[in-house]
Amino acid sequence: MNCKELAYLLADYFDGSMDPRMRAELDGHMAMCEPCMNFAKTYRMTCRKASELRKCIEYKIPDEVRERLASFLVAATEKFPEQMEEYHLQVERERREKVLAFCRAAIEAKLSSMAALLVESHCANCRECKEYFDSVLKTRGLNGPHPEEIQEHVTRLMESLPPDEEFFLA
Ligand SMILES: [Zn+2]
Ligand SMILES: [Zn+2]
Repeated sequence: MNCKELAYLLADYFDGSMDPRMRAELDGHMAMCEPCMNFAKTYRMTCRKASELRKCIEYKIPDEVRERLASFLVAATEKFPEQMEEYHLQVERERREKVLAFCRAAIEAKLSSMAALLVESHCANCRECKEYFDSVLKTRGLNGPHPEEIQEHVTRLMESLPPDEEFFLA
C-alpha cells in the first residue's frame, strides 16, 4: 500500500464513508496504538474541510504513524481484499487523469513556470521523456494513454512540486 492509498483510506475513515467493518478494525488499532491515535486526534482538529482531506492527509502523516499503519494494513488486506483493491484502483485512476492533465497543459504551454522548468530540466536528462514530449508537441495531440514509463516519470515530477503549487496557469 503506497502513501496515497493510505491517505485515501484515512480520508474515508475521517469523513465516515469507510466500510463499517473496516472502520471497526481501524478503531481497534487506534485504541491500542498511541501514535496513530494522536495523529487521528490532531488531524481531525487541523483539517476539517472534507474537500481537502485526501490532499491534506498525504502530507501530514508522520513517518512513525505511516509505518505502524502500513503494518496494520497488511493484515487488513487479507481481511478486506475488495476494499483494498478499490483504494488501489482509485489511486491508479486519479494518477492517470493527473498525468494526462499535466501533459495536456505542457503541450498547450499552460504549465506554471515552476512546473515548466521541472519538465525542461527532467527532459534534459531523460531521453524517453524528451522523445515523448517532442513527439506529442509535433503532432500537437495525445494519442491514447501514456507509456507506463512516462506515466511514472511525470508522476514523480508532479510529486516533487510543493503540495500547494498549482501546475496550471489560469
Ligand atoms: Zn498505529
Ligand atoms: Zn523521464
